[in-house]
Amino acid sequence: MGQLDGRVVLITGAARGQGEQEARLFRAEGAEVVVADVLDDPGAALAEEIGALYVHLDVGREEQWAAAVRSAKQAYGRLDGLVNNAGILRFNALVDTPLDEFMQVVQVNQVGCFLGIRTVAPELADGGTIVNTASYTGLTGMAAVGAYAASKHAVLGLTRVAALELAPRRIRVNAVCPGAIDTAMSNPALLDPDADPEETGRALDSLYRKLVPLGRIGRPQEVARLALFLTSDDSSYITGQPFVIDGGWLAGVSVI
Ligand code: NAD
Repeated sequence: MGQLDGRVVLITGAARGQGEQEARLFRAEGAEVVVADVLDDPGAALAEEIGALYVHLDVGREEQWAAAVRSAKQAYGRLDGLVNNAGILRFNALVDTPLDEFMQVVQVNQVGCFLGIRTVAPELADGGTIVNTASYTGLTGMAAVGAYAASKHAVLGLTRVAALELAPRRIRVNAVCPGAIDTAMSNPALLDPDADPEETGRALDSLYRKLVPLGRIGRPQEVARLALFLTSDDSSYITGQPFVIDGGWLAGVSVI
């Protein structure tokens, strides 16, 4: 028995990183999975490998959401879950951030999450689930990622309001708040064919050994297990909450 037997779940940004691991784990736990991304080649290859459906979906585009949900329902007849995972990060001090860059981040991280909730919730079976991907920076500040942090704070606002509005249909809405996770977002060397992933992994581990109480960067598989918990019946009495998964980073600072 899988934890998601009989469920159909759409995961955005699922071609790589945390979304990929969520797609793999949810499929292994018995769900039918819709892999949605703008990266068509890796997205389609992953879907073929795990026996899922791939759909092209730019989460900031309203009409593409409607098409993705249509395709999912055509393929599987229903939808029980959504993981709003797609996201982008840009580095800049607030005073140096061009408006275009700010809006680009908001369009994917915040508008994408809003459109996902708005399009998918009416199609979800009663008792369905939505997991939004916020961040450690949805709960605290971090210099040089102002647009990103603002958009992730907004994701938590959307999560809480959606949880209240959808509770009458027993649809639960929660958020994951990862700290630093070893994907292309925190470790761009993963996308560089000339980089040695073991070497960059060691460099990251030594950085996070100092920053994070548990002494290492997180793994996308660990976030996938949290998303599974929030999508399965194991979390049946939990809604409207942010779940921090950060190795203790947000717990405070150590002075010795
Ligand atoms: P990643 O860059 O490997 O994956 C992001 C995925 O989102 C990619 O597959 C990308 O193609 C997709 N995507 C980007 N723009 C899109 C769009 N407009 N429409 C659809 N898909 C789009 O990074 P990741 O770490 O796997 O990121 C997953 C989520 O986790 C993001 O929301 C990110 O903000 C969040 N997050 C990541 C970290 C981290 O340290 N890696 C920390 C906190 C939160």
